[in-house]
Amino acid sequence: MQSFKEAGPQLTSVRRLGFTRRPNRDETFDSICERCLRTIATGKSNMELPEIEQAHACDHADLQKTLHQAGATYIRVQLEAILQSAKKGR
Ligand SMILES: [Zn+2]
Repeated sequence: MQSFKEAGPQLTSVRRLGFTRRPNRDETFDSICERCLRTIATGKSNMELPEIEQAHACDHADLQKTLHQAGATYIRVQLEAILQSAKKGR
């Protein structure tokens, strides 16, 4: 039987402006956009990731996919608002 500590890295996510940081085994972090659920960057420090996160713009196709998959109501509401405002902009 494995103890909790041996089960693997804990998902100690650092939340920052709609991005989730997921620690990897090699001391890098994956930065995942919480709106399109895309892994937008993998970086070694919290210094280089914010820059990439700021430059990220969600892909429309990704948002549609996420909307389709999202079970949670609050995500649906958020995404529908984003998609609607994007439509109006055209
Ligand atoms: Zn995104």
